[in-house]
Amino acid sequence: MTDRHETGIVWFRRDLRLTDQPALRGALEHCDQLVLLYVDDSETETTWAAGAASRWWLHQSLEALGSDIASRGATLTLRRGPALDTLRAVIAETGASAVFWNRLYEPAAIDRDKAIKSALKDDDIAVYSHNGALLQEPWAVMTKTDTPYRVFTPYWRTARAKLHRQDPLAAPATIAGVEMDSLALAALGLEPTIDWDDGLEAAWTPGEAGAMSRARAFVADPVRDYDTTRDLPGTAGTSRLSPHLHFGEISPRQVWRLVEEAQDPESDGCRVFLTEIGWREFSHYVMFHFPHTTDAPMNERFAAFPWRDDDEAARDIRAWERGRTGIPIVDAGMRELWRTGWMHNRVRMIVASLLVKNIRAHWLHGARWFWDTLVDADLPANTMGWQWSAGTGADAAPYFRIFNSVTQGEKFDGDGAYVRHWVPELAALPKKYLHKPWEAPETVLREAGVTLGRDYPRPVVDLKTSRKSALDAFQTLKEAS
Ligand code: FAD
Repeated sequence: MTDRHETGIVWFRRDLRLTDQPALRGALEHCDQLVLLYVDDSETETTWAAGAASRWWLHQSLEALGSDIASRGATLTLRRGPALDTLRAVIAETGASAVFWNRLYEPAAIDRDKAIKSALKDDDIAVYSHNGALLQEPWAVMTKTDTPYRVFTPYWRTARAKLHRQDPLAAPATIAGVEMDSLALAALGLEPTIDWDDGLEAAWTPGEAGAMSRARAFVADPVRDYDTTRDLPGTAGTSRLSPHLHFGEISPRQVWRLVEEAQDPESDGCRVFLTEIGWREFSHYVMFHFPHTTDAPMNERFAAFPWRDDDEAARDIRAWERGRTGIPIVDAGMRELWRTGWMHNRVRMIVASLLVKNIRAHWLHGARWFWDTLVDADLPANTMGWQWSAGTGADAAPYFRIFNSVTQGEKFDGDGAYVRHWVPELAALPKKYLHKPWEAPETVLREAGVTLGRDYPRPVVDLKTSRKSALDAFQTLKEAS
């Protein structure tokens, strides 16, 4: 097999950018002309096919990528169907002899890509896979006994020590592309058929340029206070880069470099922010080494946990999804999610704790709702977030540590700006009762124009008794094991 190819295919997946794009760079180095291909093979996906918010984002991101490619003199070709069949069809149409892609780390993608690699090699097609998504490959960071880490802090210590400075790859000025029949973007049917995406449109600019401008704005200043503002949902203290990173519109290497160029990377704000990029790495790492965790608890003892699973639980889960639990900080978060496709990390932890501990619903209920509604829905990060919250995962909060939504709300949304914004029916309540309206005297409620059970729900669970039930359930598990 030769290293030089007349025609090569760059198979875009979740690397929808032209800068720091190793597969594209590899293809440009090895080939005279390129097919730039996106394949919608979602019909072959089973349990974790992209949800509605992700599909909305993907539509916008492909549109942006298509126009970035067009400005380099080439065309993005869109096809639909099983990935191997589609690649083979494109190879037959163009005579391409090589395929380039950036690796993914979810178990289903790994299985698919392995099968494709081996089938294409049998067809005498060269396959080049690259790392375009992570700072380090998951197999490059292991304990002294060559086992994978399960705890973040020692993982990150080792991973950080191994990081060396790598310059992000420049985007090509021009691309010699092959013109092919392509589906129209609309034919992929990614956009919602009902009109619910106004909030997404107002909140985000998907695509490489949107990602870069968000990253630049964040490193210019907010990152300096990240260590103190990152936990305050009422403040724009975090980067909101998660969907851009998920779709590969910007690479973690670019983000790292932007921080280094703009600020002192050892300052508190930057160090804490870069550690969050480390958490992203760790979530991919855990999924790579423990692939069963997408659907099963990492801590196997929780397989027998008595989650609530009856009509009443279903009603509580529905109230949670709709932001109608009667617990203001939780409802604020769930409404932010529904409206913008994103939720602040602190609030993700609070709403998850209420669902898995106070409501005692299986964490997969929450993971699936997030999967459908988050624009940054990411199997490694979402699985880790839910397993962490449920106490079932790697480096998890112990099950018996149960967040109190009221205390969390008072601590992290002290002035109530976040709740007042997302739960406007409570906006006139004084601070003292904003996070626990059920404790407000009738006169206070009346003055604020709130009748509980009419304008705003009473809480679906009592925080104290549900906490006790959760601890009892945990105790039965402990006794059984
Ligand atoms: P910043 O605070 O600016 O952090 C920078 C980047 O670091 C993020 O964009 C993200 O890529 C990464 N990051 C930060 N925290 C984490 C973390 N705990 N785990 C993994 N990566 C992290 N994140 C997702 O990207 N997709 C998900 O589907 C997802 N689901 C979650 C579910 C639950 C229950 C919880 C508790 C957390 C989840 N997270 C998820 C992690 C985190 O909440 C988001 O990454 C973060 O809120 C994104 O906002 P940001 O870009 O402003 O983050």
